[in-house]
Amino acid sequence: MNSAKMRPALVGIAAVSLAVAAFGGVGKSAPRAEKKIEGAQAPKGAHVLFTGKEEELRANWVKYGSEEPPGWKIVDGAMEVHGGDIATKENFGDYWLHIEFREPESRPEEHGQERGNSGVFLGRHYEIQVLDSYGIADPGRGDCGAVYNQAAPLVNACKPPLQWQTYDIIYRAPRADENHKITEHARVTVFQNGQLIQNNQEIVGPTDGHEPGPDEDFSQPAPIRLQDHGHPLRYRNIWVLPLPPHGAEHY
Ligand code: MG
Repeated sequence: MNSAKMRPALVGIAAVSLAVAAFGGVGKSAPRAEKKIEGAQAPKGAHVLFTGKEEELRANWVKYGSEEPPGWKIVDGAMEVHGGDIATKENFGDYWLHIEFREPESRPEEHGQERGNSGVFLGRHYEIQVLDSYGIADPGRGDCGAVYNQAAPLVNACKPPLQWQTYDIIYRAPRADENHKITEHARVTVFQNGQLIQNNQEIVGPTDGHEPGPDEDFSQPAPIRLQDHGHPLRYRNIWVLPLPPHGAEHY
């Protein structure tokens, strides 16, 4: 039999393997499920912020607090932390943010906040912590998936360093009256690698020590910010779906 005739049979075997992996065997199904989550497709109406291209980094992001291009580097289809926080050019109110991150390997002498620290800032000053918290039995308010310094994750859903992880973050901005006084706190629901780690959690104020000025209105749309804490994390596949998705005034 020549190689051309072999091909259909091999494709058949591959298809069966995929089906078995997807629906059967405990050990074998996990990698397939993981791949499916990581490859989460941007739904209709989503703003795609980064899929791995340098031009997307420059088109959609700036160095935080400036109009300068971000200093982050493109490495293997991801963007790697370098040269300060970055923020989206566009402002967002309520949304579903999908983002994937990869922790670097830390040295044994590095502990706690020194291990692969970064963060996803919602509404400018509300950080969902990004950290290497793999294997920590009882994660706290500084660990990965925490609303930093306010709310620990419900479970530890972390994967080890060098593995890609996902956050799906559903953010509801705070509401304010005409005097910019907050009347309802921000709320956030977070899935990490498909596990629920924050459930409609109230965010009671800035997590970064920022003191809002008298005219600063946290209910207004704001950039999404990614933190440079000096560690070479990577991010990829970032999209945001403004909510409500169909333009309704209330939901
Ligand atoms: Mg952080």
